[in-house]
Amino acid sequence: MDLDFTPEELAFRHEIRDWVARNLPPDISRKVHGALRLTKDDHQRWARILGARGWLGWGWPPAFGGPGWNAIQKHLFEEELAMAGAPRVVPFGPVMVAPVIMAFGNAEQQRRFLPGIASGEVWWSQGYSEPGSGSDLASVKCRAERQGDKYLVNGQKTWTTLGQHGDWIFCLVRTSNEGKPQTGISFLLIDMKSPGVSVRPIVLMDGEPEVNEVFFDNVEVPAANLIGEENKGWTYAKHLLSHERTNIADVNRAKRELERLKRIARTEGVWDDLRFRDQIALLEVDIVALEMMVLRVLSAEKSGKQSLDVAGLLKIRGSEIQQRYTELMMLAAGPLARAHIFEAMDAGWQGDLAFPASILPLASVYFNHRKTTIYGGSNEVQRNIVAQTVLGS
Ligand SMILES: Cc1cc2nc3c(=O)[nH]c(=O)nc-3n(C[C@H](O)[C@H](O)[C@H](O)COP(=O)(O)OP(=O)(O)OC[C@H]3O[C@@H](n4cnc5c(N)ncnc54)[C@H](O)[C@@H]3O)c2cc1C
Repeated sequence: MDLDFTPEELAFRHEIRDWVARNLPPDISRKVHGALRLTKDDHQRWARILGARGWLGWGWPPAFGGPGWNAIQKHLFEEELAMAGAPRVVPFGPVMVAPVIMAFGNAEQQRRFLPGIASGEVWWSQGYSEPGSGSDLASVKCRAERQGDKYLVNGQKTWTTLGQHGDWIFCLVRTSNEGKPQTGISFLLIDMKSPGVSVRPIVLMDGEPEVNEVFFDNVEVPAANLIGEENKGWTYAKHLLSHERTNIADVNRAKRELERLKRIARTEGVWDDLRFRDQIALLEVDIVALEMMVLRVLSAEKSGKQSLDVAGLLKIRGSEIQQRYTELMMLAAGPLARAHIFEAMDAGWQGDLAFPASILPLASVYFNHRKTTIYGGSNEVQRNIVAQTVLGS
């Protein structure tokens, strides 16, 4: 196993670094480095910049307009973006639904949907979970009834991240109650501007309306929006979930946030506390170990070896690390960490100068990160999957 980068790979890294330095808007990277609130406009501005360069679909093959990078190049690209303070690309379009459309969609669907994803113009949402159907996803009840050349959709989705901005939503819908629950699910693309679609925000404990309930009330969806075959949606859904879980691990963001934790610890005077520095060292060891795991997977891919399916493992370790650095940031801030001021997440907020700027968003970020061990499939359920893979069922 060779974990060193070749001279060509290092040259590639520098090319990306130069481009990002010239193209990432400084007001956006300032927000990311300070963990401040990103607006829809911030996300879309950056998505369009990447899209214009042909890099929003950085994992896509050339046949679909992607750069055709290998696994190492993709990793280097993601690392350079994260360290420079680029926002995480909202994954639902380019990382999640696009690979499904490429693998299972027909030529017409590829022609119709992929360009809007690649350019950053169209905002996608994920409609998998429902009340009572999260871990037990195969029990989804949102019903799509075939009526001639359209489906009539009735039901509800929930926890739909940033669904308030969504133009389109990809949904798991029930098209049959025959046989096993998995065999009656279909994968449908729904225009969120269709009559009968309504979106209601759910405010999380950091005060942000980050997730939503989405209701479908007699929504007419052209049958041409069905991906692949009716009742085969479970297969396509699983294809997408491994992309989602690997994306959540996000070791590059952890590296950037580790540096921020060190800055906060120095500013707040706990850097000299050996016990506290031990905690930072332990976290750093775990981040390096996660990075090694990612590089091992990439190295195996590069040498054409079959690698273990580690999406679940990466999700567990990555999400736990994300929670730990937010906890250590709170500890470093001590009593000041209590401040949870919703408005302070806005760039340029001047409301209470008694608090150091680095401290203000900590409570919000801490609260927000409680989600990481739940979404994308809870960590308990991931552990079951890993156990089955390693030990057999
Ligand atoms: C912030 C956030 C954003 C999200 N965004 C989206 C989105 O955009 N689109 C979308 O479709 N979904 C989204 N989700 C939903 C997410 O995928 C589900 O919350 C998750 O799969 C868990 O499902 P649940 O909430 O129904 O919990 P449940 O399935 O009811 O689980 C409750 C608890 O029981 C445990 N549990 C359940 N089954 C088992 C088992 N077999 N063994 C051991 N423990 C078990 C779980 O780990 C959990 O602790 C989001 C969730 C959150 C919190």
